Amino acid sequence: MSTIPYTHLHFIAGASVPSESNAILERHAPGDGRLVSTLAAGTAADAQKAIQVAREAFDHGPWPTTSGAERQAILAKTAELLRTHKAELGMMECLESGKPITQAREEIEWAAGIWDYAAALCRHLHGETTNTLGEGLLGLTLREPIGVCALITPWNFPLLIISQKLPFALAAGCTCVVKPSEFTSGTTVRLAQLLKEAGLPDGVCNVVTGLGDPVGEIFAKSPLVDMISFTGSTAVGRKIATSADNLKKVALELGGKNPQLIFPDVDLDEVADSVIHGCYFNMGECCNSGSRIIVHEDIADALVERVVAAAAKIPVGDPLDEDVKLGAIINEAQQRKILTAIENAKAEGAEVRLGGGVLSQNDSGRYIQTTVIDRVTPEMACATDEIFGPVLVVLRFREEAEALAIANGTDYGLSASVWTKDVTRALRVTRKLRAGTVWVNTFLDGAPELPFGGYKLSGLGRELGPHAVQEYTETKTVTIRTGPYALRWTS
Ligand code: NAD
Repeated sequence: MSTIPYTHLHFIAGASVPSESNAILERHAPGDGRLVSTLAAGTAADAQKAIQVAREAFDHGPWPTTSGAERQAILAKTAELLRTHKAELGMMECLESGKPITQAREEIEWAAGIWDYAAALCRHLHGETTNTLGEGLLGLTLREPIGVCALITPWNFPLLIISQKLPFALAAGCTCVVKPSEFTSGTTVRLAQLLKEAGLPDGVCNVVTGLGDPVGEIFAKSPLVDMISFTGSTAVGRKIATSADNLKKVALELGGKNPQLIFPDVDLDEVADSVIHGCYFNMGECCNSGSRIIVHEDIADALVERVVAAAAKIPVGDPLDEDVKLGAIINEAQQRKILTAIENAKAEGAEVRLGGGVLSQNDSGRYIQTTVIDRVTPEMACATDEIFGPVLVVLRFREEAEALAIANGTDYGLSASVWTKDVTRALRVTRKLRAGTVWVNTFLDGAPELPFGGYKLSGLGRELGPHAVQEYTETKTVTIRTGPYALRWTS
């Protein structure tokens, strides 16, 4: 059991090591400002070292050729260890991220469920045969691990997001270098230690803590890395994708401004409850946050009234309080960004119906009130820009086509929802929405079985689902002559 303040070192070649410069970073808890962790401040040399170790483990180590059965056992054991350590990991996640302790524990459970699912996929990775090339030829398509994968993750769901990448990369037979967010490194470092305990060979999973520059940048640019999988902001994702040396495979999970289209034939109480969950869960610091409702004019006033009344009752405060549903904001910069977005919305003529500022109850923590902004129009910045905080914006429509135009009128395309009892309309609208996930009469439901990813600037590629392991493979075509040599090109 780790003690507070936690100490996070790199985990390279199966051992915990400090930065070669011995430099450290400090993490103070968003909830009360206490020093919660120190972490190794990764240098360029640390990042290069981890990459070399992963390269060596891929090129000469046992992992890429272990059987699916062996990989499955290690991944399933990891799921079990995550559950055994749920209290410890949940506490670490809560203190470092500021999310409520109950939501932190749920996150550990979800993550463990993904490791279980990936374990099952270990024994289902196979290629194809092509038996229709004529009598003389047989085709085989092999799926091989792509190589060394660099996995870079953000701060909002630290253990969950690394669990959407790492077990699938390992299931494919890849080796990895991992960089968690400098704000929330703890659970990722512990995960690497638990993987060793579960039997993963040294050097297969290496974690370097520290800042995006240099650690993430070195990972993205290194010619020894075959694939990079990044979750984070669109700005950094774009930088990684366009990085000059980057002729490696790139998978990106980026931002969202996810619309919920609400038609008049719905149960308003149900929708109101789901809307506030979809928007305020994880303080709205959620790429999938349903932060933009597009409501039919006939029900807009009644729905907004219900949403405001329900949102006003959400307990906001100390993340360690078991009853709290909305915890602290991750850092000063994010807090400023959220408050500025609210001020800009007011300046553009939108109407703040609830909240709109900080909670003053705790001077050492960062808390923002649940906020509802009504009378938003499509050209306002708050209608199209990701705020990543507890802020719901309300737009109104009269015609279905207008609702769709508003919904699709942003650069993002991560998720969306349609609320209606009319099945024909639900399907028609679903098919026209440009988003990687569409929910019908629900929001934020999910399972490891279902692929996740975005259209447009929300990303490239898909995580989870039955093809998640294939994302970490190369395809090798093998053509075999099975009959007499027939070409005789030179005679
Ligand atoms: P961020 O882009 O600032 O950082 C993400 C990670 O990239 C961190 O580990 C950071 O240290 C690293 N990084 C920073 N600069 C880098 C660089 N130049 N090269 C390589 N790595 C670098 O994002 P954040 O603030 O941690 O997270 C919030 C953003 O993440 C939001 O925009 C949100 O929408 C997005 N997000 C998307 C998903 C998704 O699945 N689509 C999930 C969670 C978060």
